[in-house]
Amino acid sequence: MRETELCPCHSEKNYTECCMPFHKGIALPANAVLLMRARYSAFALHLPDYIMNTTHPASPQYMENRFSWRYSISTFSKNSIFQGLEILDHKEKGRLATVTFTAKISQKNTDATFTEKSRFEKKNEQWLYLGGQLEEGHAPNLATIGQFRVLPLAYYGDAILRRKGDPVDLITSDLITLVEEMIETMDAFDGIGLAAPQIHHSIRLFVIRKPTEDRAKEIELGPVKVFINPTLSEYSEETWKAPEGCLSIPTIRAAVERPKEITVEYTNLEGKQIRERVSGWEARVIMHEYDHIEGILFIDRLSPKEQEALHSSLENIKQRIHDGKAL
Ligand SMILES: [Zn+2]
Ligand SMILES: [Zn+2]
Repeated sequence: MRETELCPCHSEKNYTECCMPFHKGIALPANAVLLMRARYSAFALHLPDYIMNTTHPASPQYMENRFSWRYSISTFSKNSIFQGLEILDHKEKGRLATVTFTAKISQKNTDATFTEKSRFEKKNEQWLYLGGQLEEGHAPNLATIGQFRVLPLAYYGDAILRRKGDPVDLITSDLITLVEEMIETMDAFDGIGLAAPQIHHSIRLFVIRKPTEDRAKEIELGPVKVFINPTLSEYSEETWKAPEGCLSIPTIRAAVERPKEITVEYTNLEGKQIRERVSGWEARVIMHEYDHIEGILFIDRLSPKEQEALHSSLENIKQRIHDGKAL
C-alpha cells in the first residue's frame, strides 16, 4: 500500500497516519473504536494475523482449529469488497467497551452489509475483541459515548468461582446498582442467569431471566428475577438432562442431570420474602446459579468420564485467559 493512500477503514486519513501503526505493531489502539477500525482495515488488507492477535482468548473462535479459523478470515477478506464503515455507538467503562457499527460490504456483487454490536475487553493494556451480535434495523448516524454498565466476568480458573458466597445483610443502594449492572451484563452476553461471584462479588445473590420453552422447544427469556440469600429444598425425585453453558466457562457446553422441580425461598430486590415451587428450565437455571454461590460449577456435576473428556479444553481456557498464552 502506498503511503499516501487512504486507510481502508474509511476514516479519510492516510493509511500511515491511521491503522498502519497498529497493523505493524508500532502502536496500540487507545480505545475500542480504533481497534474496531484497525480490524476492519485488516480484513480489507488481508491481514488475518492481526485479526487473530486482537481477538480475546475468551472468544469462541479460539476453540476452533487455528488453521481453519485463519482460513475463514482469509476467505472472508478475499470474497468481500470493503466499501464503508460507520461507527454508530461507542460505550466504554473501565476495561470493557461496546462498539456498534455498520460494515458496508459487498460479496460477489451482492450487498452483504451488516450492523454488529461488538464487545471489547482491555487485557494487559491492550484492547481485544470479545465477540459481537448482529443488530437489526438502522441505528442513528452518529457516534455517542454513553455510560456503559457491563461488569468484567470472572472466568474458569479464577479462585472467586470456588468460594462460598457470604450472605447479603442489607439491600443498600450500592446493592441495587450492582443488581442493575448484573442485569445489563447478563443481557450483554446473552445469558439466562448470572451469579455475583461471576462478576467478582462473593455474595449470595444471582439474577435470571425467567426462561420458558416455546412450542419449537426453543428457550424464550422472560422478565428478570433477583434472588437474594436463596435456599433450595424439596428437590423432586424426577430428574432430566439438558445442555448447559456458563458465561464463566466460554465455549463449553454439556448436558447436566438435575431435578425437575424444586422449592426456592429468597428475598427479592424489594426486600420481600418469597417461597416458590419452580420446574423445568427455570428450576434448572436457578440450580445452576445457586451452585455458583456455593462455589460449584456445572462441569462438577458431570460424570468423571465426561469431566475427563473436557479436561484439556478446560485447561486450555484457564491458560489462555489467565496466563495470556495463545494456543
Ligand atoms: Zn484506519
Ligand atoms: Zn454459570
